[in-house]
This record gives sequence, C-alpha cells and structure tokens, in this order.
Amino acid sequence: MNEDFPRTLWEMERRFSEEAACRQYLFALRWPEGFRCPACGANKGWAMRGNLWLCAHCRRQVSVTAGTIFQDSHLPLTTWFRAMWFVTSQKNGVSALGLQRVLGWGNYRTAWALLPKLRRAMVRPGRDRLSGTVEVDETYWGAEESGVRGRQSLRKALLIVAAQADGEGIGRIRLRHIPDTSRATLHGFITESVEPGSTVVSDG
Ligand SMILES: [Zn+2]
Repeated sequence: MNEDFPRTLWEMERRFSEEAACRQYLFALRWPEGFRCPACGANKGWAMRGNLWLCAHCRRQVSVTAGTIFQDSHLPLTTWFRAMWFVTSQKNGVSALGLQRVLGWGNYRTAWALLPKLRRAMVRPGRDRLSGTVEVDETYWGAEESGVRGRQSLRKALLIVAAQADGEGIGRIRLRHIPDTSRATLHGFITESVEPGSTVVSDG
C-alpha cells in the first residue's frame, strides 16, 4: 500500500461521504445534460426517494442506477464508491481480504461477493470493450484543496470513467485510476476500453 493512500482515501471519502453525493455523480454520468426519460424522452422529472426519478410527463419511475453494477444492491452507494476507489487505486491487484479491511467489515463474505462485480467493471485491455455511444469523463475523487496548508503534494485520485449508453441506463462502466490527463493517457484508456467505430462523447 503506497504512502499517500490513507490521505487520498480520506479525501475521496470527504467528497463521497453521503449517498446524495454519489447519486449526484451517477446522475451526471447518466444524464450529462439533465434528466431525460428513457421511455418518452421528456426532460422534466422529479427526484423521489433513493435513486428513483419520476418522469413529469409519463410518470414512469426511472432509477439512476438501472443497468449498472449498483442496480439491485442492498449496499449503500458510499460503500460501492469506496470499494471502487480501492480497486482502481491498487496497481498490483486486490484481494477480497484487502477490500474487507479497507471497508472495515467484520467478515469478508460481502467483499468476496463484491469483488467479481468490480473486476468486471474494470478495464481489461483489448477484451470486452464498450461500444455504441460511450460517455467518457475524467474526475477527481477527492476534496477541494482549499484549506490545505503546507502539504501541496496532497494529491487527489484522478479517475477516468467510460460509460456505455444503454437505452434504459448507463449500462456497462469502465474505470481506471490515471496519473494525468495528457492526450496519451486519455487516448490509451479509450483505445483499450472502447471498440473502434464507437461514438465517444465527453464534456471535457
Ligand atoms: Zn417519461
């Protein structure tokens, strides 16, 4: 485990310490231009309890997490995000035991069940690439650095996320922890995680 790990984890947790923040993040990934009903195309809706939105036009209930690895999970999104952060930040692979430790669980059954899902969400070079319309965004998992004195080396975890549009939802996701946002890095990620001929959309 590298030295800046706990500090960066702490930063990540400051940003994604609440369900609402995680949900908002997924919302923005799924609907970068605001809510859009997958059934009727209306762009007006209301947030309901949990991850559900209600279409103002056709009254359909739409889940922000439909089609994602978070769908139908009884675990809070904060737990998923923490687990994803852990898996993407470890360069040499992770074990269920490591995941259990970082999540502070008493036994590793949940971590053991979670890990394969997370692994499927990770980039496997040249295999299982996303296709169709793919939204790609880089994001910092960490708090703003204002208020931090002295330690300018304090780093945020930089992640890149590719999400395949899937009619009903954002569908499959690919994640990677990246060192920078250089053209080469972004290109490498896209080449490995997206099929040639796909439409790549990004707001950056
Ligand atoms: Zn609708």
